Amino acid sequence: MTDIDIASLTKQTESVSSEFEKDFAATSNDLSHKAIEDVRIKYLGRKGLFTAISEQMRSVKKEDRPEAGKLLNSVKKNMESKLDQLRTLEKKAALTAQLDAKAYDVSLPVAQTAGSLHPVTLMRRTLLKEFRNLGFIVYDGPEMDLEDYNFSALNFKDDHPARDMQDTFFVKDLEKTVLRTHTSNIQIHAMRNERPPMRVVAPGRTYRCDSDLTHTPMFHQIEGFIIDQNISMADMKGVIDTFLKAVFGTDLETRLRPSYFPFVEPGGEVDLQCVACRGKGCRICSHTGWLEIGGLGMIHPNVFEAVDLDSERYTGFAFGFGIDRIAMLKYGLSDLRQLFEGDQAFLSQFPVN
Ligand SMILES: [Zn+2]
Repeated sequence: MTDIDIASLTKQTESVSSEFEKDFAATSNDLSHKAIEDVRIKYLGRKGLFTAISEQMRSVKKEDRPEAGKLLNSVKKNMESKLDQLRTLEKKAALTAQLDAKAYDVSLPVAQTAGSLHPVTLMRRTLLKEFRNLGFIVYDGPEMDLEDYNFSALNFKDDHPARDMQDTFFVKDLEKTVLRTHTSNIQIHAMRNERPPMRVVAPGRTYRCDSDLTHTPMFHQIEGFIIDQNISMADMKGVIDTFLKAVFGTDLETRLRPSYFPFVEPGGEVDLQCVACRGKGCRICSHTGWLEIGGLGMIHPNVFEAVDLDSERYTGFAFGFGIDRIAMLKYGLSDLRQLFEGDQAFLSQFPVN
């Protein structure tokens, strides 16, 4: 094979380059993925025109090789960069075509996609509105708290079963720290920060190791209390009755039953006449005519002591309800878990406010 000199190589590349420029110009005016790919294959493919020239490198005279290498390199770079330009132009053209085809009117009203509020949020807002009307202030507290606030100051003895690992989420590597099992921890925070007279209500997330048809490991409670001089059980019954009638309707009766909670004495539970059968008895109320709504009672003297309040001078009552349960009853839901599954079809039935 005869040696090729640099002049001959230059002549060949000039001829191929000029043909490439023509193809480049033509493709710029008729962009498509296939057209660009055809140009690439014609010049840089395995049997491409440029590839054929670069294969002659091994026949180039030794002293011309550095210059030949530079020349071929710069021609190849130019071709690759122009092919990139074509690809970018092709993408832009495709996007423009797409935008032109489907015109969006950004000035249209957004009513159809306004969304909705979660039933738990709706119910929390309703409850807080009613309590504000009764003169309560809203208090917040930590979801992860010391056992003192969640248990000890609320008169839970050290061996109380609620303190068991099976019921409570303990926080790893943090001593005496739990995910609160009720919103009652906020009672203690409020009582230590404020002085009577106090009317406080506190909604929030709570956690227990529990999961079945009617229990979820995370649920919502609302807690409240009143502390002043001469607060009696009659005040408690009056406030709870007024509140439940405001939420569920004035024709439904309420009743108190004795029960036990460590932080109240005496303690009780409040029942509401069944919202479905109005007391006649049905499946929802297990044919009793009544629905359990929550717990309540007069604040235990040991709780007053734990927050440095004089239990001889002050009395008060506290109550706690499940917001999820009240939402279920109010909106006629059949399964508690519907509230936490995030199903859009279910959630979009609720209003925005
Ligand atoms: Zn019923």
